[in-house]
Amino acid sequence: MGNLTFDDLKSRVADGTVDTVLTCLVDMQGRLMGKRFHAANFVETSFNETHCCNYLLATDLEMATPSGFASTSWQSGYGDYVMKPDLSTIRMVPWLEGTAMVLCDVLDHHTHEPVPHSPRAILKKQIDRLKALGFDAMMATELEFFLFAKSFDEIRKSGFRDLEPISGYNEDYHILQTTKEEGVMRPIRNHLYAAGIPIENSKGEAEAGQEELNIRYAAALDCADHHSIAKHAIKEIAWQQGHAASFLPKWSHDRVGSSSHVHQSLWADGKPAFYDKDAKLGMSELMEHYMAGLIAYAPDYTYFLAPYVNSYKRFSKGTFAPTKTVWSVDNRTAGFRLCGDGTKGVRVECRIGGSDLNPYLAQAAMLAAGIKGIEDKMPLAPATTGDVYEDAKAGDIPQTLRKATETLRNSKFLRDVMGDDVIDHYTRAAEWEQEEFDRVVTDWEIARGFERA
Ligand code: ADP
Repeated sequence: MGNLTFDDLKSRVADGTVDTVLTCLVDMQGRLMGKRFHAANFVETSFNETHCCNYLLATDLEMATPSGFASTSWQSGYGDYVMKPDLSTIRMVPWLEGTAMVLCDVLDHHTHEPVPHSPRAILKKQIDRLKALGFDAMMATELEFFLFAKSFDEIRKSGFRDLEPISGYNEDYHILQTTKEEGVMRPIRNHLYAAGIPIENSKGEAEAGQEELNIRYAAALDCADHHSIAKHAIKEIAWQQGHAASFLPKWSHDRVGSSSHVHQSLWADGKPAFYDKDAKLGMSELMEHYMAGLIAYAPDYTYFLAPYVNSYKRFSKGTFAPTKTVWSVDNRTAGFRLCGDGTKGVRVECRIGGSDLNPYLAQAAMLAAGIKGIEDKMPLAPATTGDVYEDAKAGDIPQTLRKATETLRNSKFLRDVMGDDVIDHYTRAAEWEQEEFDRVVTDWEIARGFERA
């Protein structure tokens, strides 16, 4: 939900406070894409619908036009999608002058049906399935990222070499160091809060220049909207201050990676359905089934938590990034951590996702896995303890994009709950990412073999 009604927007346009409306969809990579409308045009006509080229949901980070997508191609002429503004998401964009924003659903140009592989539609489908069982999902996605001393432009022009984080040392929970970053972080917190996003806090993370932003948990779709807007704002505000913010999960093999942990709980009639005061750890049977599904199907949906080649560089022992599909009580070495045990706030945190995840896809896949656990009344294995990295019996998450792509392609479960068209679409996106990487000669190969091979 935004924080402006359509009528509020109209009066702000009439009194000249708003002159621009960003009309955005969220693409496969989780980015905001769209148009900047003159506000007068938006409130007169374009609030109804606008259009975009349908390659926007069949491209990569470079805006390439890969072959192999059934939904669109050069062959089919790359037609249009309808962008349908969801007027419940209108909000001000306080870090840009005179600007408001609205998020759009993506519809078929001819039938006006939701486009199945659109991230917002994918999440809405699982929310509806959960609703049919009588539950609502409350979610929180943490945003970790690095701030750099130089600007995006300077860094790109220097070939992304000699990257220098904004600070000189590990700033985990560090008030002194993060005070020095307030020039960027304070406007991020305050502008987002003023845009109706319930910011809880920011904190230094466990590396030089690494920050985390926490947003209060919300209904799943709102949570994903909050995440996408916050990620966008962080980059834009860092840019305004002459710095860069990066959500690459692992920008240096010598540094800690960035994650996006996802906190999850189900509610029924406004009450926490994961809580049972008489049960061990306060976990209801429903929660046990949900977690069993989450854990069992984690390899199937790892792609949606780690969509690029780089995402898999984060998964390594002793780094707080998990490698095992087990759960544990307040233990940061497991893929799934039980938080708030014994309280109404009891919830599960999935720690597998990287900072590059698309929050709609990640949440949809996890809700689907949890629903499967509930439907099949799956039993939850006992919690693991100790250093889970060393637990040989614990299941592994796929360790490469190649492996995760094959697991996704062959997942009968995901095909059943998301549809073959959606899984084929994202499998193709994953394959393309790998193909692009495979054809490039890396610096590492040159340095290793140039003289010595
Ligand atoms: P951490 O130990 O990871 O720092 P926090 O206490 O900061 O955990 O909480 C992390 C996130 O969990 C916050 O964004 C918070 O809003 C969210 N959260 C709290 N209660 C719930 C709940 N019942 N369901 C989902 N998310 C929740």
